[in-house]
Amino acid sequence: MQPLAAKQFALQVVQRLREAGFESLWAGGCVRDMLLGREPNDYDVATAATPEQVREVFGRRRTLAIGAAFGVITVLGSKQQGQIEVATFRCDAEYSDGRRPDSVSFSTAEEDAQRRDFTINGLFYDPLAEQVIDYVAGQADLQAGVIRAIRDPFERIAEDKLRMLRAIRFAATFDFQLETQTRAAICQQAGALQVVSAERIAAEMQRMLVHPQRCRAMELLRDCQLLVEVLPEAKRFDEQPSTWSETRDVLGRLASPCFPVVFAALIRLLVKAGDGAAARTIGKRWKLSNDDLKLTAFLIAHVAEIRTADQVAWPQLQRILIHDNIQDLMALAEAVAGTCEDPPAGLERCREKLELPQQKLNPPLLLDGNDLRQLIQPGPVFKEILTAVRDAQLEGQLTSQSEALDYVRVLLSQHPEQGTQV
Ligand code: ATP
Ligand code: MG
Repeated sequence: MQPLAAKQFALQVVQRLREAGFESLWAGGCVRDMLLGREPNDYDVATAATPEQVREVFGRRRTLAIGAAFGVITVLGSKQQGQIEVATFRCDAEYSDGRRPDSVSFSTAEEDAQRRDFTINGLFYDPLAEQVIDYVAGQADLQAGVIRAIRDPFERIAEDKLRMLRAIRFAATFDFQLETQTRAAICQQAGALQVVSAERIAAEMQRMLVHPQRCRAMELLRDCQLLVEVLPEAKRFDEQPSTWSETRDVLGRLASPCFPVVFAALIRLLVKAGDGAAARTIGKRWKLSNDDLKLTAFLIAHVAEIRTADQVAWPQLQRILIHDNIQDLMALAEAVAGTCEDPPAGLERCREKLELPQQKLNPPLLLDGNDLRQLIQPGPVFKEILTAVRDAQLEGQLTSQSEALDYVRVLLSQHPEQGTQV
């Protein structure tokens, strides 16, 4: 998607609906972002046309009706234009599950503003008249930097518990304040976050954690007792406050990390040192992808070794340094070391080794599994021998295949049960 094309397309969609006689406006996040001088992620259109009428205006082939039950039709543009969600003005009926309205009914723009979550998200914009339409005093809160629930905050949070995390994400990422009553409503209902699906919670957490304002987001989550809801292990931060101050410092030192690096930084002091499996268990609860689980477990398993790398045997360290994600591990280790004021020798050794040409850092094997299979049957000692040969090569004790074979003979003589087919 190309930002200018997307904006033009959003304008065209409003124009077409207007020409067909339906009131139509840009709505919600895109208006907020525009007024903040940020490029909107996407444009949403709100309209008086019913879903069926929206489909008639744009044609069935150019629309998708996946969200039609909630009054949402997706209008498809070109690859550059992307797609736009066109939602019929609506008001929501009761919320009995703490997450979604039981039904919706179509209504007016004003009522549609009233069902939205926060005042800064309740704005409309008429892109033809270039005019903001504000039924909820959202512009004043945008100016003042305030996240305020529309209408009664206790009721609005009770309706949909996901709004607690959204409030904190907006407050943190825009560097806004939580309005007092909105904050009180969140603190009061934090314990009910569990009704929200793990996927939705995880998606919000991921967005907060990769954002440069991640420390503020985590502080707000802690202040409102929400962090322990999404991460029960975080109780430790309360029991032992130094673990929190250290974690917060590490989070703040990460420049533009991928999610697993931030996640590992967050849970590092909540699992046993080096316990990759425990990290994986928490990651599974957060519904991480397999790749992210693997990387998180790797980071937790090895971050301590990197910091004390000057005391780690070279073959053991080498196997870590040649890992695909070593740069992520280094980024985490650097952030941790900076906070803990580690002696610099460990990280320096790693940096130095990582500068080595590939041939030196990771020399081709003198003997691989296929070579060894010519000599002995795969069995318990097979892997042990391969590892021993590789270790000796990395230590510089073996430099040719014939030396490696000699060494295998020596090793085999210590394992007479293997026979000597060599
Ligand atoms: P971003 O896209 O940056 O997450 P956004 O505000 O655009 O922020 P969306 O999830 O795209 O968030 O939702 C678009 C709009 O729909 C919001 O601006 C808000 O008006 C409304 N909205 C979204 N989620 C909720 C909710 N849980 N409760 C009430 N209104 C909501
Ligand atoms: Mg949005």
